[in-house]
Amino acid sequence: MIANYPIPPKTFFEIASFGYMLILYLLSFRDKNRGSFSSYKLFRHLETIMLLALTVSIMTYTFAVPELGTPLYICTILRTFDSILCVMASRIFAVYLMEYVGTEGGQKTISIIGNILFFTYLALMILNLPLKFVLWYTPEGVYMHGPLFVPIVFTTPIYYLTTGILMLIFRLKTLGPREKVSLSIASFVTLFGTIIQAATNGVVLLSLPFGAVGIFVLYFSIETADYHQLLQNNESLRLAEQDAVKANRAKSDFLANMSHEIRTPLNAVLGMDELILMETEKRKDIDPAFTGRIKEYAENIQDAGQVLLSVINDILDLTKIESGKMELKPAPYSLHGMINDVGTMIRVKAEQKGLLYVEKTDPAIPDNLIGDELRIRQIMINLLNNAVKYTDSGKIELDIEMRDRTEKSLSLCILVKDSGIGIKEENIPYIFGDFQRLEEGANHRIEGTGLGLSIVKRMITRMNGSIDVNSKYGLGSVFTALIPQEISDEPVVKKPENKKNRRLSDLITYHTPDCRYLVVDDNNLNILVAKRFLGGLGGKTDTVLSGEEALQKMRQEKYDLIFMDHMMPGLDGIETYEKSLEDPANINSATPVIMMTANALSGVREEYLSKGFADYISKPIDIKELMRVVALHLPEDKISA
Ligand code: ADP
Repeated sequence: MIANYPIPPKTFFEIASFGYMLILYLLSFRDKNRGSFSSYKLFRHLETIMLLALTVSIMTYTFAVPELGTPLYICTILRTFDSILCVMASRIFAVYLMEYVGTEGGQKTISIIGNILFFTYLALMILNLPLKFVLWYTPEGVYMHGPLFVPIVFTTPIYYLTTGILMLIFRLKTLGPREKVSLSIASFVTLFGTIIQAATNGVVLLSLPFGAVGIFVLYFSIETADYHQLLQNNESLRLAEQDAVKANRAKSDFLANMSHEIRTPLNAVLGMDELILMETEKRKDIDPAFTGRIKEYAENIQDAGQVLLSVINDILDLTKIESGKMELKPAPYSLHGMINDVGTMIRVKAEQKGLLYVEKTDPAIPDNLIGDELRIRQIMINLLNNAVKYTDSGKIELDIEMRDRTEKSLSLCILVKDSGIGIKEENIPYIFGDFQRLEEGANHRIEGTGLGLSIVKRMITRMNGSIDVNSKYGLGSVFTALIPQEISDEPVVKKPENKKNRRLSDLITYHTPDCRYLVVDDNNLNILVAKRFLGGLGGKTDTVLSGEEALQKMRQEKYDLIFMDHMMPGLDGIETYEKSLEDPANINSATPVIMMTANALSGVREEYLSKGFADYISKPIDIKELMRVVALHLPEDKISA
């Protein structure tokens, strides 16, 4: 109580609100630097205007009262100010909400309609001073409201708060849970306070205390410095992740392109080398010492070339798996046939190092399984090659067991054991990573890229299996791969045995003396290789270096088979083929055209076949594959023994 004037209880709410608003305001002085948070700036404006509004409102009820002898015009002006500041606070609150939820369009709407409302309100409040139709004091000092008081004073703030809340609801989905809750509570509490005040004809003064509660909620939930720091960190993490994904994709594309580019010249190197081996074979009786030396060099080139090819294939495999392009091709196969093939190959390598190769297969495992034979074979070979590589004495063991047998399926358990150098326990988590090689210093003599196990792991994961390793440093390792396979109902037809390491001359099993071939390739060396391979079959081979020349040739000569490179300057292989089909002068429209390219990504075969090519051969040319394709697409009467 001041003199004879009792302070109304509603003012004590405002005094309390003023107290904690002031504390918040002073607290936030300590951490003004919030980087890019534009909503924080508005939040500071909101705090300031609320403090001002509370100050004026408290003064209106404690100091500017006629009972205390304050002149009536001062009382009226303070009441008017009190109302204007409340309206401005609601406006800043709505703009803050919109800024937070990111609706610039919304801000425009609020500013057009809101400005009309606001200036009308201001004009009416000024007119009220002489005309006394909104609020005024009687000459006796009694405070009065006119019937227009509620519509004039409350329409604008309720409009601001409702549009703000509508925008918030509209954008709720884009907000995190903490933001959803705090923004909703703060805005509903503020709106609720204003509505109560309007409904009670300004008797219950809740708009400012409730607005202060809203600000309190906002401050401690989404406007603290540590929360902003967290948001900033999350944003930088998100950007960093985006960059990492982009960089990884660029790396994969680069690797895929590079390996493709390397395969093309390698094709020429290996093909020419094969020709040197053929020539030396033919002339070995003339000068055995000289041809023997050349043969040795050529075989060294062959070995190194094969290693390079396998590295490139590994990189291609890895990029294929990474980009999700590796397709599994499950088909029935013979498990025992596969183990025999793998065994023949590994035994030779093991024996060359003086190691014993032992193989044990659980006889109860059905032979006729369904799975991607090529990939499983690749997994076994990778693990066994490593075992041989990292073992200097003792033995290598391949155990094939089964787990989880049902009528239709089982889990193939492939155990590869060695008595080699083993892996230190602390290194085990890294061995399945890309390009991870351990103890590079100690193992520098052992060839490798650190890709083998990474590919194995990814392929097994792709087949819904798992791989594990158990190793004792210095004593040896056991790799255990579990791969689910289905059991086929029908027995598997065994494939004819695959003879390894045969030379071109041994591989030519038939001849085509009357055939005419056309080879289209922009690379001279590749042309030479293809020409010599086809020359081995007999017949005549024409060659051209571009799509344009190919179209000319196809008008002049009739061929039995055409081999077409894909990537060529000018018309590429596909365009040349398509143009040849449209060309009425082409006399080879019925001739099978084979795509012969270094593009070896999985799925490209289907793509070329769908374009109308009769078949597809990847470079470096595999002579057996060439034999298969030629035999498949030539009429029988053109093939002789
Ligand atoms: P690399 O081409 O180097 O052999 P891998 O991915 O096949 O690449 O293997 C990764 C690393 O794991 C190897 O560099 C080697 O240090 C270790 N490692 C793999 N297999 C064995 C094994 N059987 N014995 C010991 N260490 C092995």
